[in-house]
Amino acid sequence: MAALVSELRLDGLTKSDDVLLELSRRLAAYMESVFPFQYEGKVYQLINNYVTSLHMRCDVCGTYPIFEVSIIKGEDGQQLNVGNNCIDRLTNRQLSSWFKNYREKRENIIRNRKYIDGLSLVLDGSLRNEFALKITDSDIERLSLLLEKLINGFNPDRRESQLAECYIKRTKYA
Ligand SMILES: [Zn+2]
Repeated sequence: MAALVSELRLDGLTKSDDVLLELSRRLAAYMESVFPFQYEGKVYQLINNYVTSLHMRCDVCGTYPIFEVSIIKGEDGQQLNVGNNCIDRLTNRQLSSWFKNYREKRENIIRNRKYIDGLSLVLDGSLRNEFALKITDSDIERLSLLLEKLINGFNPDRRESQLAECYIKRTKYA
């Protein structure tokens, strides 16, 4: 049993690493799904979307300041910084909400790393009967649902954090 656990750690990727990797694949797929679009008779492409603490201006409508910025690049290589309303209108989709949601999920997953990694070790270990302590079926179900929730980028409430911490502590791999 100990060998299996160290194998899991040797490959270097924890559960939360996997989840973040999957999330960045989804980002790449989304970026690809945003087709080139027209603005003032030129074809533009979405290059990036990010949050900035600098005060920036939307190059399309002049709104100032904008903190969520899409960078678009024209066929002539010219780059423009574009705010949320304008990028949604130009691409004709809810692009700004998609990115907002993506960033929020990503931040939550990073914040909840220790629970995601801890719970997945607890659940794997319990499948292999690694613990002297027996986890009841109903707690396994609660922990699995909680892990699913965290993987999907939602935050645990206080009771869920306590449940996770309790099991991670009690089944500590030492
Ligand atoms: Zn604008």
